[in-house]
Amino acid sequence: MEQCFESTAKAAQERYDPQFLKFLKEFETVFRHERLFPKDCRTCGRTFRTLAEYLLNTVPKGHSFEDCEETMRQPYTMTYRHCSCGNTLVLTLTEETYPYLRELWSMLHEKASRSGRPINEVVREFSDQWQHYIITHNRNEG
Ligand SMILES: [Zn+2]
Repeated sequence: MEQCFESTAKAAQERYDPQFLKFLKEFETVFRHERLFPKDCRTCGRTFRTLAEYLLNTVPKGHSFEDCEETMRQPYTMTYRHCSCGNTLVLTLTEETYPYLRELWSMLHEKASRSGRPINEVVREFSDQWQHYIITHNRNEG
């Protein structure tokens, strides 16, 4: 318990939820950027070379992350963001691009049910921290 409080305090300093942090770090190490980037906006023609560049130049649409596993019958997550031209861009995550999708969603659902908050609120919080983490840790990339 003590250890738990300690890590919570440390993460609060860095503004990241300790339960999210593990998954955020995995986005840096195991996320297969090359399968998804460069990505183009079909409406304005803008090219996003990296995940950091993409997150920096788009804004999340609602809670952004949508779990589509039930429909797709495999771990499958869609993230929705708005390009600066107003177009909605979709980034699709599967186990090939991010192997921890199932663990991510079970953590988010567990967090929601334990705190009595709506799942979308927890997902939005994760999405915000995801954006902040990726941009902060990849600022000098490319
Ligand atoms: Zn655009």
